[in-house]
Amino acid sequence: MLVQSDLFGDFLFMWYPKRINGLEQLERFVARSGRRYTAQRNFDLGMNRHEHVSKLSPWVRHRIISEEEVVTAVLKTHTLSAAEKFVQEVFWRTYWKGWLEAHPKVWTDYSVRASELAEEIESNTQLRDQFLMATKGKTGIACFDDWTQELIESGYLHNHARMWFASIWVFTLKLPWELGADFFIRHLLDGDPASNTLSWRWVAGLHTKGKTYLARSDNISKFTKGRYTNITQLSNEALPAGSVAETPPLLPLPIHEPFKSVGPTGLLLTDEDLNPAKLIKETGPLVAVANFSSVERRSSLPISPNVLNFVCGAHEDASMRFKQMKSLNNSSVAGCKSVKEICEWALRNDLNQVVTPHISVGPTRDILEGLSKDLELNGIKFYQVMNQWDLMSWPHSSRGFFKLRKKIPKMLSELHII
Ligand SMILES: Cc1cc2nc3c(=O)[nH]c(=O)nc-3n(C[C@H](O)[C@H](O)[C@H](O)COP(=O)(O)OP(=O)(O)OC[C@H]3O[C@@H](n4cnc5c(N)ncnc54)[C@H](O)[C@@H]3O)c2cc1C
Repeated sequence: MLVQSDLFGDFLFMWYPKRINGLEQLERFVARSGRRYTAQRNFDLGMNRHEHVSKLSPWVRHRIISEEEVVTAVLKTHTLSAAEKFVQEVFWRTYWKGWLEAHPKVWTDYSVRASELAEEIESNTQLRDQFLMATKGKTGIACFDDWTQELIESGYLHNHARMWFASIWVFTLKLPWELGADFFIRHLLDGDPASNTLSWRWVAGLHTKGKTYLARSDNISKFTKGRYTNITQLSNEALPAGSVAETPPLLPLPIHEPFKSVGPTGLLLTDEDLNPAKLIKETGPLVAVANFSSVERRSSLPISPNVLNFVCGAHEDASMRFKQMKSLNNSSVAGCKSVKEICEWALRNDLNQVVTPHISVGPTRDILEGLSKDLELNGIKFYQVMNQWDLMSWPHSSRGFFKLRKKIPKMLSELHII
């Protein structure tokens, strides 16, 4: 997983999708997750040099390793006060997910607009030229062009680079934020409907009313350790992108019917949680497992091969873990591509119920919307089961992050992590 680089005397880092790869990375990072992370995390040292941050996001995004596992490992080595910043960053993910869950219309509006803009690129030559200039890294803004290349080649960008990139996209290049978010989702290995959409909205001034994020030359210079200085092309004003939309009405968080095991149970694995270890303890023996990936539908434009390979590899790795399970009807894990194929799999295996970890707002939920009804028409019950971490945190995530942040020690204590 790590290759010694002669050029930098550093390590070249690759993301491999197996759970074991994520766990190894976690183990390597734990020692750096305390005060060193607090002091250094904002420095973007450039491609293959992101040693101050964990680089765990592609595994965490797909819950190949969970937020709970990451925080537990970190707090075995550091006190909460020493690792407070890192733990809070993990909770930013939780917060965005909970927030989107309570405001699903933000996702729907974004995905409709992103698809419309993808079509508009075909007919509007001015928009197309600007879009291609940005996405091919040919704007002449050196840092921005380098981040474009890094994103395309590696599938990752440092958090600060993501903020600067999004800001330049919106306020300097004056491109629609939805097209930028879509470009990220097609190339980031950790591309996530909540973290990505809401971070772009935050930069553009649509999350906290009137608050935009402006990339400044001196800030970029400081946190890239002088790799980019005197960037003269940047906009010096950041007016909210379009009219600041009123935050759509808050919807109640999902309450699922408690899982009841009656007869043969099948597990459905999706991109949203590829290691539902605790759920499996509750379900009892499984007779069948299927997986379903929505990765190709994260955008109406093509998804990068890096992302496709990562997600596909993660599903294969998850399938391999289940193949060992003795209770299964046969040793293969079915790959399903549609609601119809999932229903056929459930019928083939004479299932009484299909269970899956809660499917949060995003493309997986959009595609599987009719699954519950179709299974029930065939006499098969569909259960979604919430993870304890989300169940505790999401009720505090529907407004500002501060409200959730205050609850972190109490929640970690209730989860027996501290
Ligand atoms: C415009 C923009 C788009 C983004 N898109 C995504 C995305 O699609 N998917 C995604 O996972 N993150 C996204 N982020 C958040 C953040 O940049 C990444 O989570 C982080 O850079 C991942 O690198 P890491 O694992 O080394 O982070 P670390 O600093 O090591 O943090 C540890 C973990 O905490 C979580 N995390 C850290 N910072 C944030 C944050 N600001 N918001 C949400 N979660 C966070 C991640 O799960 C991460 O793996 C985006 C941020 C911006 C500004």
